[in-house]
Amino acid sequence: MFEKILIANRGEIALRVLRACRELGIKTVAVHSEADTEAKYVKLADESVCIGPASSTQSYLNIPAIISAAEVTDAEAIHPGYGFLSENADFAERVEQSGFVFIGPRPETIRLMGDKVSAKNTMKTAGVPCVPGSDGALPDDSREVIKIARSIGYPVIIKAAGGGGGRGMRVVHTEAALLNAVSMTRTEAQAAFGNATVYMEKFLENPRHIEIQVMADQHGHAIHLGDRDCSMQRRHQKVIEEAPAPGIDRKLIASIGERCAKACRKIGYRGAGTFEFLYENGEFYFIEMNTRVQVEHTVTEFVTGIDIVQTQIRVAAGDKLRLSQRDIVTRGHAIECRINAEDPFKFTPSPGLITNWHAPGGPGVRVDSHVYSGYRVPSHYDSMIGKLIVHGDTREQAIRRMRIALSEMDVAGIKTNIPLHRELMLDTCFIEGKVSIHYLEERLDDLIGVKSGKQ
Ligand code: ADP
Repeated sequence: MFEKILIANRGEIALRVLRACRELGIKTVAVHSEADTEAKYVKLADESVCIGPASSTQSYLNIPAIISAAEVTDAEAIHPGYGFLSENADFAERVEQSGFVFIGPRPETIRLMGDKVSAKNTMKTAGVPCVPGSDGALPDDSREVIKIARSIGYPVIIKAAGGGGGRGMRVVHTEAALLNAVSMTRTEAQAAFGNATVYMEKFLENPRHIEIQVMADQHGHAIHLGDRDCSMQRRHQKVIEEAPAPGIDRKLIASIGERCAKACRKIGYRGAGTFEFLYENGEFYFIEMNTRVQVEHTVTEFVTGIDIVQTQIRVAAGDKLRLSQRDIVTRGHAIECRINAEDPFKFTPSPGLITNWHAPGGPGVRVDSHVYSGYRVPSHYDSMIGKLIVHGDTREQAIRRMRIALSEMDVAGIKTNIPLHRELMLDTCFIEGKVSIHYLEERLDDLIGVKSGKQ
C-alpha cells in the first residue's frame, strides 16, 4: 500500500479522499491555492503545499506545480478527485512519467473516452448499446450529412467530439436547419475545445439519465456496482441523484451492468468509472464514460456498503478486487442533494462568509462537506459546498429522511439551494419517480414564476 498520497483537488472531494487515506493509514499531502490556505481540511492533511494563486488555471490546473509538490513531499501517488485535471490524459501521463501512480485509468484510456466519437465506437464494438447516429464523425460532404440525418430521422442532435459539461450540442428539428447547425457547432467546437469534429445522434425527446458505476483492478477483473438515476438536472448539471433508479426492472440493470463490466475487461480499464446512459421506452443508450470518481458516488456507497474511494486507492496500488459480482448486493435506497452556494431560485452564485452551519444527522444521514461556521466560500470555484445524502430501507423512507434532514439543516450568511431541495422533496412527480431529464427545468419555470409573483 502507498505511504503517502497527494490530493490534487479542493473542497469536499479533497476531504473525502483525505478521510479514505487516513482510514487506510496513508499519509496525505493537500495542495491548495492561496484562496484555500485557511481551509480546515488543508490543516487536517499531514502536509500541505500552496501551488498558486486563487485562479484555478494557475493552481488546481497547474500541472508543473502539482508535480513539483509531489516531488518535494515524496508522495507516491496522486488522486485527482473529480473536475479540474481528473480527466486530463496529459496530466495522467505526466504523473506517470514523473514516477508517480495516477489513481485512475491509464492515460490512453482517458484519451480514448475523452473523445466522444472514439468512446462511442469503442463501446459499440464492446457490445454496449449506443444512441443511433452517424457512424463516427460527420463527413464534410453536405449531401452525405443530409442523407445520414434522413436515415436517423428528425429530431437529431449535433454533438462535438471533444465536448463536455453540457456544451457543444445543438438539436435540429428540420432538414432546413441542418447544415447551418452543423457548421455552427463545428465552429463553436473548434473555438471551445480545439477540435472541430462533430457527430450526429437521434435526439431522444424524454429520456432519463441512468448511469452504471464500475470498478476494475489491474488483473483483468471488473465488476459493476449497480445504477444511479441522475435525471433531476438543470442545464445538464445534476441536482439530485439516487440509487437505485426507481421503476426499472432489476434484471435489465443487471444485464446492462454486466455489459459495462465486460467492456471494461475488454479495454483493460483500471479503477472507478461511470457509464452514462439515456434511458427511454425500456432501452438504454450509452452517451459517455466518465473515467473518475463522481460527485454522486456516495449514493452507491450507501446501497452497496462499498467505499469507492478506498477501492480506487487499493486497485491503484495493485490490489486485486476483493469482491466478485455475486458479492455485490444492494440494500435500500439512497438520495443525494447537492448543496450549492447560490440563490435557490435565480441560481446566481452566493459566495461569502458562512456565519452559521448546522448539519443534520441521525440514522442513515451523511453530510460530505468541507465547510463550517466561519468558513468563507471563495468566489473562484464551483458553487457546490457539500452534499447531503440519506439512506432508507425504501425510497419512501429515504425521501422522508431527506425532508427531515433538510428541515434540520441551517446555513446562514450566504444563500444556498436548500429551500429548492425542500420544495423538490414534496414534488409529486419526483415522489412518483421516473421523471425525465427535462422535468426539473419545466418545474423550475413554474416555481420561479410563483416566487417572482408572475403567476
Ligand atoms: P457532456 O459531456 O457535455 O455532459 P453528454 O453527451 O453527456 O455531454 O450529454 C449531456 C446531456 O445532453 C445529456 O445528459 C442529455 O441531457 C443531453 N443529450 C445528449 N445526447 C442526447 C441525445 N442523443 N438525445 C437527447 N438528449 C441528449
